[in-house]
Amino acid sequence: MSNPVWSRPPGAWLSVVKVRAYDLHGRTVFRSEARQISEDKSANPSFRGALAGGVRSELTPRDRFSAFEGAIEDRGVLSTYLPVRRTPGGAVVAVFEVYDDITPFKQRIVQTQRHAVLGVLAVLGLLYGVLFFIVRHADGVLRRQYRQQQAHEQALREAHDTLERRVDERTAELARANQDLEQEITERRIADQRLSYMAHHDVLTGLPNRTLLGDRVEQAIARGARSGRKLAVLFLDLDRFKNVNDSLGHTVGDQLLQAVAVRLKACMRAEDTAARLGGDEFIVCLPDLADAAEAAQVAERMLATLAEPCSVAGHKLPAAASISIAVYPDDGTNAQTLLRNADTAMYHAKESGRGNFQFFNAKMNERVSRRLATETSLRRALDHGEFVLHYQPLVHLDSGRIDGAEALLRWPRSDHRLVSPADFIPVAEDSGLIVPLGEWVLREACRQAQAWQAMRPGLRVAVNLSPRQFRQTNLVAVVEQALCDAGLAPQLLELELTEGMLMHHADDTVQTLGALHALGVRMAIDDFGTGYSSLSYLKRFPIHTLKVDRSFVKDLGRDADDAAIVSAVVAMAHGLNLAVVAEGVESEPQARYLRSLSCDLVQGFHFGRPMAAVGFAARLGAEAAAANAAGAAVRQALLPVPAC
Ligand code: C2E
Ligand code: MG
Ligand code: MG
Repeated sequence: MSNPVWSRPPGAWLSVVKVRAYDLHGRTVFRSEARQISEDKSANPSFRGALAGGVRSELTPRDRFSAFEGAIEDRGVLSTYLPVRRTPGGAVVAVFEVYDDITPFKQRIVQTQRHAVLGVLAVLGLLYGVLFFIVRHADGVLRRQYRQQQAHEQALREAHDTLERRVDERTAELARANQDLEQEITERRIADQRLSYMAHHDVLTGLPNRTLLGDRVEQAIARGARSGRKLAVLFLDLDRFKNVNDSLGHTVGDQLLQAVAVRLKACMRAEDTAARLGGDEFIVCLPDLADAAEAAQVAERMLATLAEPCSVAGHKLPAAASISIAVYPDDGTNAQTLLRNADTAMYHAKESGRGNFQFFNAKMNERVSRRLATETSLRRALDHGEFVLHYQPLVHLDSGRIDGAEALLRWPRSDHRLVSPADFIPVAEDSGLIVPLGEWVLREACRQAQAWQAMRPGLRVAVNLSPRQFRQTNLVAVVEQALCDAGLAPQLLELELTEGMLMHHADDTVQTLGALHALGVRMAIDDFGTGYSSLSYLKRFPIHTLKVDRSFVKDLGRDADDAAIVSAVVAMAHGLNLAVVAEGVESEPQARYLRSLSCDLVQGFHFGRPMAAVGFAARLGAEAAAANAAGAAVRQALLPVPAC
C-alpha cells in the first residue's frame, strides 16, 4: 500500500503553506492570504527574537489552517521568523514568517518511532523468549539437580541409618561377646585361683601345704636377714594318731586333724603360718622373733592347747603332740635345711617321752629349758610368796644421814642362796610375770616405808619399775592403791624409771608421768647416762632425781672423762633443780670426789649394801641412837658448869 507521506521525494517533507511579513512594530505587512493583515505580533517572543537578528521557529499543531491552497486540516505547522536585512550584516528592516507544513515529517517520525518501538518490542520479545527458554531450561536443570540432590541425600540418609543400625547391632554383638569373654575370664580366674589354692593348700584342713610353706619360710628368712631377727620352724607330729585312724576310722581321724588345725591357728599371731604336710604332720613358721625362747613359749602353748581332749564325732579324743624346733639362722639359713633339721629333731622329741618339744640345737635346748624352768619356778615362788625385798640406804653425802632406801628384789632359794634380780627379772619381764611381781614389790615397799616412819619420819623408799610394768594401763591405779593400803604419803615414794622407758611410747609416757605426778609421787631416772642420750625429756617430764650410773662412778678420781661426765651431770641436775644420786659408791675417795662436786646423795657398798628389812631397821635405830648420843653430849656440853 503506498503511503502518501513515504512516497514523497526527499526534501519534499517541508512545504511552505503560508508566508507573512512584519514591519519592525510587529504589524503584518504581508500575508499570503488577505486576512490577518495588520495583525500585531510585536509581543510574540519569536518575532522579537527575529527582530533581534536571530531565526526563531515554533511548532504549532493546527486543527484547521488557512494556506495558499485554501484551508488545510489537522496539520503540524512550523512557523519560522526570519530577520530581513537589506545588506548582509545590516539592520533588520522587517521580519519574515514562513509557515512550513511539517505534518509528513512528523508522521515519518511517529512512524519511525513506532517502528523503533516495534523493533524494541520485537527484540525484547525475542530476548524474553530466549531468556524464558534459558530460564526454563536452567530451571529444569536446577530442578533435576535438586531432585537428584534430594535423592542423593535420601540415599545418604538411608545409608547412614543402615550404617548406624549395623554399628548398633555390631556394638551389641561386641558387648555380648565382651560379656561372654569377661565371664569366661572370671570363670577361668576362679578356676585358676581354685587350682592355685589347691596347689598351695591342704584340702582337708585348708592350711597351706608344703609348697606354700616353703615360700613363706623363704620370705621370712629374707626379712629376718634384713632385720636381724630370728625365725623358728616348728615341726608338730600328733602322738598316736594312727590309733585313732585304726580304731575309729579315717573320717573321725580327718575331723580330728581339722580340729587340730583350728587349735593351732588359735595359738598363732597373724604373721605366723601353720601348714599341713600330710598325715598327722604339721609345720608352723614363726617369723620375727627376738629370741628362740619365744618359739619355746609358742610350742608350750600349742602342746597345752592340744592336750585338751577334742570332741569329735561324739568322742573325746586326745590330740597330744610332739614338737621339734629349728631356728634361723642358728640351725639353717634356707627353708629346706630348717625343715630338714626340725624333722630330725622330731626323733629326739618322740624319744624323750612325747608330749614335749625339742630344739634341733642341743645348746639351745639347754638354754631354753633353763629359762622355762626359771619361769616355772618364778611363777611358783610368786604364788608361794617366796620373794623378799632388800633395802639399800640412800645417804646424804654431807651429813652421812640416811635419806631413804631403794627396794631391791631378792629370790631366796632352798640353799639360802639369793638369786640376783639380773638373773630372773628378764625372764619375769618376757613371761609377763613382772606385772604381778612388780605390784607385790610396790605394795611391800610402801608398807615397809610406812612402818619405818615411826623410827624415821620422812624416810623415802625408791621402787624400780620395769618397762612392761610401766606400759600397764592401770599402773597409776595400782600405785595409788598401794599408797592408800599402806597409808604412805605419795611424796615418800620414788619410782625409778630408765631412760629407754621414757623414750619409747612418748605420748603414753607423758600421760602416765603426768598422772603419777598429779598423784604426788616422785620420779627418778635410774642408771642415768647409759640409755638414750636425749636430754629434752628432762624438760618435758616431771622428773625429781637423776641417779648417775655406777659405770661413771667406778673410776672416779682415776678417769678424767668419768669425772667430767659426773661433774656435768651434777651441774646440769642442779641447774634443772633436780636431786642427784651417785650409784655404786664403793670407796671413800669416790665419796670425797663426789662431795667436792656437791653431789647430794650417794648409794653404794661404801655406805651400805642392800640388806633385809630387819637389818635396815637396825641401821636406822643405830643412826637414831648415835644422833641421840650426840645430842646428849651437846646438851651436856651446854649445861652450866657446877660451882665448886
Ligand atoms: P638398780 O636399780 O640400778 O639397782 C642398783 C644395783 O646396784 C643393785 O643391784 C645393787 O645391789 C647394786 N649396787 C649398789 N651399790 C653397789 C656398789 O657399790 N657396787 C656394786 N658393784 N653394785 C652396787 P641388784 O640388787 O642386783 O639389782 C640389779 C638391778 O635389778 C637393779 O638395778 C634394778 O634395775 C633391777 N631390780 C632390782 N629390784 C627390782 C625390782 O623390784 N623391780 C624391777 N623391775 N627391777 C629390779
Ligand atoms: Mg634402781
Ligand atoms: Mg641403777
